[in-house]
Amino acid sequence: MPKLNVPKYLIIHHEGSNLGFEKINEWHRQRWNFVSSLGFFIGYHYYIEKSGKSYQGRRDNEEGAHTIGYNTQSLGICCQGNFEIEFPTTEQINTLKKLLEDKSQKYLISKTNIKGHSEISPTLCPGKNLLSWVKNYQKIDLNYLQKQIEIIKEKIRQLLELLKVGIK
Ligand SMILES: [Zn+2]
Repeated sequence: MPKLNVPKYLIIHHEGSNLGFEKINEWHRQRWNFVSSLGFFIGYHYYIEKSGKSYQGRRDNEEGAHTIGYNTQSLGICCQGNFEIEFPTTEQINTLKKLLEDKSQKYLISKTNIKGHSEISPTLCPGKNLLSWVKNYQKIDLNYLQKQIEIIKEKIRQLLELLKVGIK
């Protein structure tokens, strides 16, 4: 029986090959025989093929089998391909982006908790070409936060000016 999973991280993986959902599911069945309530064996919660089509292998609240130490506190998302030697497709990135947005809103996960597998464990996964996309995606949020901080600082400055006037 899978344990309860409470998503605090979104962890991005690559397949490392181009076998597709069915074959990876079968490979994981042979390896772990760890069935989900959806009837799949794949260790990831989501799998995105090159066409952009996504598959759900496990319910969000079910334990995954993708990142040691994080399987009861994350969603594992795998993209088809080997991004050490190829690039994700536009369709894949669009689906990935939408999935990250949906899940980060649903579970209140900040971009700092959206990670490539290799940012947590010593592995090549999700491949340098997808990892660079993930790092850029994390940065966009930091830029946004920095802008928000500047706006708040400016408001405080204005408020302090008003207070000075008030005291006189
Ligand atoms: Zn991985």
